[in-house]
Amino acid sequence: MSTTDSTISLPDLIAATKATLEKISSDYTPAVFASSLAAEDMVLTDLILRSKLDIGIFTLETGRLHAETLGMLDRIKEAYDYDVTPFRPQPEAVANYVEQNGLNAFYDSVEMRKECCRIRKIEPLNRALSGKKSWVTGQRRAQSQTRAELHVQEQDEAHAMTKFNPLADWSEEDVWEYIRSNNVPYNPLHDKGYPSIGCEPCTRAIQPGEDVRAGRWWWENPDSKECGLHVVDGKLIRIKSIA
Ligand code: SF4
Repeated sequence: MSTTDSTISLPDLIAATKATLEKISSDYTPAVFASSLAAEDMVLTDLILRSKLDIGIFTLETGRLHAETLGMLDRIKEAYDYDVTPFRPQPEAVANYVEQNGLNAFYDSVEMRKECCRIRKIEPLNRALSGKKSWVTGQRRAQSQTRAELHVQEQDEAHAMTKFNPLADWSEEDVWEYIRSNNVPYNPLHDKGYPSIGCEPCTRAIQPGEDVRAGRWWWENPDSKECGLHVVDGKLIRIKSIA
């Protein structure tokens, strides 16, 4: 088994992650977990719901997700009897974008892509985070070069709250070992060459040996491959590490 830090075993990673989630639930509420319904997010969903922690779970239902991803909402309900809250874009903003630029204008330029992400993800995210003390993500440091500086606990200056990335130290192998050992439901697209899953038109399967984020916005340069949820004015907003 490999980890991003080879000195940390999976049982120790799980214990540390549980401790982080318990700290959030006791000291950082109201707290919410932004789940993309992908493998990492299912590890956190499992840990949060099994321990009945006081952390609400929501997802950004952009209107362009794969059917398999949407199907995870039913699978979570079935496995944990829990309703993930969907946050959707403002219908008039989507209609205006499509009318002025076309349904798939995000392929035309980085600016068009970021505007689509702003309408379908960032504005709904801001609504989901409104009034909260902290939020949680399933990001891992090893996922891409844009996440190399990720910390477990950070100050999110843009949203004026604490942001937690409890899986920052986990490797992809750790994630899958946890999922298999605990029989956690996961998105079937992961078995079809999709290690990282976003909106359907902006995600493709990758080939063996490709970077795990290579299938996201594959027509862009690697250093622009964030949706803006963790970037403000072109800069990563994980400015201040607390951990
Ligand atoms: S990932 Fe693609 S479809 Fe989804 S919001 Fe961003 S640009 Fe739009």
